[in-house]
Amino acid sequence: MTSASFYISATNLAEFPDDNKPHIAMVGRSNVGKSSMINHLAQQKKLARVSSEPGRTQTINLYTMDDRFYLVDLPGYGYAKTSKEKRAEFSTMIHEYLEHTAQLKLVLLIIDARIPATDLDATMLEWLQQTTIPFIIVMNKMDKVKPTDAQKLHQLFQEKYPGVRRIEHSILSGKNQKEIWSAIESALRTASRGEMVS
Ligand code: GDP
Repeated sequence: MTSASFYISATNLAEFPDDNKPHIAMVGRSNVGKSSMINHLAQQKKLARVSSEPGRTQTINLYTMDDRFYLVDLPGYGYAKTSKEKRAEFSTMIHEYLEHTAQLKLVLLIIDARIPATDLDATMLEWLQQTTIPFIIVMNKMDKVKPTDAQKLHQLFQEKYPGVRRIEHSILSGKNQKEIWSAIESALRTASRGEMVS
């Protein structure tokens, strides 16, 4: 990764660049750490805004990564203070994006390891499972999880979502950042939607 830059903050898909560059998208609850992860992957401190106030990202933000692909930050869902109407609008935007982006190669579903089984995450996960969109779970903020709880977390996911690939991650320790990159690289090599990421 040598260069990353902000491309556009879009409120609808018509504003998207009209090119065939692959997309790697991130989805998750507000405050789960998407912005931090974008900065981490891009090795830049301020590419994406890291907010202590959740719920700010109300747009789809595209970042150009090495002029090779777009990293796509989808609006965070489930922020309590967001009005119901806005929340509904968010999910429409997320679903429209996921359903209509032919260049989408991989979705990183980011889940907060401290609150691993929220209804919203489960709904998103189950929705993704019913599509042909390749996705993996990134279990973020693992630094906040005690080793004994990590084991429980592992079991919970094995039971609830057997076979779904999961990468544990922490922005603080840098845990498994390489794994995320290799999932991205492997997704970028796939020819079209529907192919599984190994
Ligand atoms: P976003 O709303 O999903 O974009 O989340 P942000 O990137 O703005 O992060 C929300 C908060 O979580 C910030 O205070 C971050 O510093 C913090 N955060 C993000 N990743 C981690 C992590 O791996 N570990 C810990 N402990 N905090 C994190």
